[in-house]
Amino acid sequence: MSRPGTPGGQPGPQRTTDGASATSEPARAYAELTAGNRRFVSGAPRHPNQDAGHRAAVADGQHPFAVIVGCSDSRLAAEIIFDRGLGDLFVVRTAGHTAGPEVLGSVEYAVTVLGTPLVVVLGHDSCGAVQAARESAATGAQPSGHLRAVVDAVLPSLRRAEAEGVDDIDGIVDIHIAQTVETLLGQSPVLAEAVAQGRCAVVGVSYRLAAGVVRPVTAVPSGLASLDVPNAATDPAAA
Ligand SMILES: [Zn+2]
Repeated sequence: MSRPGTPGGQPGPQRTTDGASATSEPARAYAELTAGNRRFVSGAPRHPNQDAGHRAAVADGQHPFAVIVGCSDSRLAAEIIFDRGLGDLFVVRTAGHTAGPEVLGSVEYAVTVLGTPLVVVLGHDSCGAVQAARESAATGAQPSGHLRAVVDAVLPSLRRAEAEGVDDIDGIVDIHIAQTVETLLGQSPVLAEAVAQGRCAVVGVSYRLAAGVVRPVTAVPSGLASLDVPNAATDPAAA
């Protein structure tokens, strides 16, 4: 039971005025998440909170310590790559981690009703949704059916990448992760208020499919992701 979020039975996380301090609830949640990723990367996961006893214990209510707004990619399963279990993560996934109304509503539910202190946008290298959007933009070919909604949601990030002179796919993915963070905060006054009050933080991270490592791309408040030094040290590509 190493969940860093609200203790069981408490109505919500304590309010702080310094969302970036190491002792704030958002910072503790982020540290817990990256610690789980380090266990996963090292090949020594604990698989916490996955036993029958915990399953029964959380049946009456959930207090997840992080919301994950992630890509649907089958290699990006949140509970596996962060080495967590039942009741820990509130996961919202779409191809290309888009931020439409249902995603925004799901995030707001977790932050306001469940009191979750951290929102993480989870993208990854070689993202197929970003590649599909880039191909559509380059050729002018419209994707069929509802796939077009996914591509349309990624296009603003492509335009931003073009304006910033970024044209490699993983650089574009980083921009799309940052864009998704900004969209969540820009479209959800409820989330923005929770962040302004220090009750919540929003972090964008990029996951490497082969290495299994998450790397912070952006954070609001900005000081939060700097806590991630040990994780960076385990990234073979950073050496
Ligand atoms: Zn993807």
